[in-house]
Amino acid sequence: RKLGAECGLLARTMSGRSSRIAVVAEDRCRPSKCGQQCRKRCPVNATGRHCIEVAPSSKVSLISEDLCIGCAICVKVCPFNAIQIINLPSSLDKETTHRYGPNSFKLHRLPVPRPGQVLGLVGTNGIGKSTALQILAGIFKPNLGKFTVTPSADEILRYFRGSQLQKYFTRLMEDKMKATIKPQYIDNIRKSVKGKVGDYLNKEDQRQVKDALCDILELNQILDRDVSDLSGGELQRFAIAARAMKEADVYIFDEPSCYLDVKQRLKAAQVIRSLLQPKNYVIVVEHDLSILDYLSDYICCLYGTPGAYGVVTLPSSVRDGINHFLNGFIPTENLRFREEKLTFRVTESTEQIIEGQTYQYYKYPPMVKTVRGFKLSVTEGSFNDSQIIVMLGENGTGKTTFIRMLAGEVKPDKVSDEQVGMPAYTVSYKRQELVSKYSSTVRDLLEEKIPGSCTQAQFKSDVMKPLKIEELMDRQVENLSGGELQRVKLCVCLGKPADIYLIDEPSAHLDSEQRLLAAKVIKRFILHQKKTAFIVEHDFIMAAYLADKVLVFEGKPSVDCTANAPESLASGMNRFLSHLDVTFRTDPTTYRPRINKLGSMKDTEQKAAGCYYYL
Ligand code: ADP
Ligand code: SF4
Repeated sequence: RKLGAECGLLARTMSGRSSRIAVVAEDRCRPSKCGQQCRKRCPVNATGRHCIEVAPSSKVSLISEDLCIGCAICVKVCPFNAIQIINLPSSLDKETTHRYGPNSFKLHRLPVPRPGQVLGLVGTNGIGKSTALQILAGIFKPNLGKFTVTPSADEILRYFRGSQLQKYFTRLMEDKMKATIKPQYIDNIRKSVKGKVGDYLNKEDQRQVKDALCDILELNQILDRDVSDLSGGELQRFAIAARAMKEADVYIFDEPSCYLDVKQRLKAAQVIRSLLQPKNYVIVVEHDLSILDYLSDYICCLYGTPGAYGVVTLPSSVRDGINHFLNGFIPTENLRFREEKLTFRVTESTEQIIEGQTYQYYKYPPMVKTVRGFKLSVTEGSFNDSQIIVMLGENGTGKTTFIRMLAGEVKPDKVSDEQVGMPAYTVSYKRQELVSKYSSTVRDLLEEKIPGSCTQAQFKSDVMKPLKIEELMDRQVENLSGGELQRVKLCVCLGKPADIYLIDEPSAHLDSEQRLLAAKVIKRFILHQKKTAFIVEHDFIMAAYLADKVLVFEGKPSVDCTANAPESLASGMNRFLSHLDVTFRTDPTTYRPRINKLGSMKDTEQKAAGCYYYL
């Protein structure tokens, strides 16, 4: 039904003929294990023609897009959800930039980089952003959908002739442009780069900017450390510096904010913008929409079906581009690509007290914890059920220490009479680290960890369905991507019966759309189940959407910090943003918080009024 709706959606919004694509997921299609129901049940095969074939030597089914009549029987009978049959407007055919092979992902069009401007890309995971970036970086040549005979350089240039990309590709293919790319997944750098951070940066410093970059990206403290020992946030800042110090004509950053706190994200954005020259190109993929907004001069959206096809839209202004993505509608193409709008009205109802309803109140006393030279002082505070408290603070200010104190894993230095017996509540804790050595399927994991919830109708509809856990059920946990594992871990955390849910960075590895869906799931769950959540979140839009109260951590990171008491959204955000010297306004259409440009009229006015966060 979903597939039908999708095709109908496209058919309604685009006039004209359609062409069909059949996509078989290589990692899921296992013809030796499924009895090949797709081949046996295909009505075209029944007439003697070879619409679906499984050659003895082939690891996956091969579907002929010419013979397929689009009945979708194979989609329904495949036990591994490996097949997608999609009708596309045939006008897109001549705009095919790349296809990895038969029955695999297809990218239509390309983002158009402009010299002297930052191009921001936004779209869900698996929609072709990294594919587009690799083509624009010259890592591989686009095959224009012809994977049997690779097109020549001339053919590729002919394809782009007359378009805004002609000059770009001419220079790229004549090796007259050097591109450098910060990849999305940085964890491999720990293995591929040997030696100390400082030594590596000294070697790579083609632009003689190492000292300035180390200051702004706070790398000076880790110059003597081995790259293999860096934490996620340190590695990200190292990777950004290593790319930004190169002499290049095209700078590409794939998800620069991952693992960074809000302050570091803003600094990384400043570094990236500082690379702009009148004649060079800067391209960024970013899922933190307030950072994308802050970073970019214009936007291209990507829409389509993840894993099957992606289409790049024409460039638009930053505000319009992000709003089109959130609205799921591209006005210039009169195309709706998502039925639901993603909106998030942030309310100032900090207390959320509903008359007639009874609440469970919790209090915690002042506490101090000293660990290896780091001191965290916790101001006494209170909270109640049906409430989300978002913890905001730089990395190293003690958020995880505090969460672990709430979880009862870490004891305060002095245990007062009041604290004896803490915690007087039960907790469920989703840690920041996303590793799983669980060597079976997601289904087995859920049945083992949350046997009560994963069969319960309400949990299924409120949590599992929106997090799209069903489609992951038969996958091996150890083979899940970062975003898939995050969704499963969030599901396990919410599925455990508890009074308090401690959730560390739910947005990490999720794309912008999944972040908003996950935030909605958490909010609804906490409110309906009358629970409390403490959440660490660095994506400002998600934090603002989630927070009923804000708990600000301040002080000298890794040395001496204070956790304030939970306070109202407005005063907490003001406190946090005043430390960062950044002001936010609200977009009138989608209500998303937008960063004011430093020194702009709004920024100056809001700072003068002490209003760093404008609801
Ligand atoms: P995004 O960056 O938007 O998450 P990608 O460009 O990484 O998307 O991937 C788009 C799709 O292309 C995914 O379904 C991915 O599995 C597929 N893909 C990426 N690289 C290859 C490849 N070398 N061969 C086949 N399919 C690939
Ligand atoms: Fe055969 Fe196409 Fe129907 Fe699948 S959708 S069963 S390939 S005709």
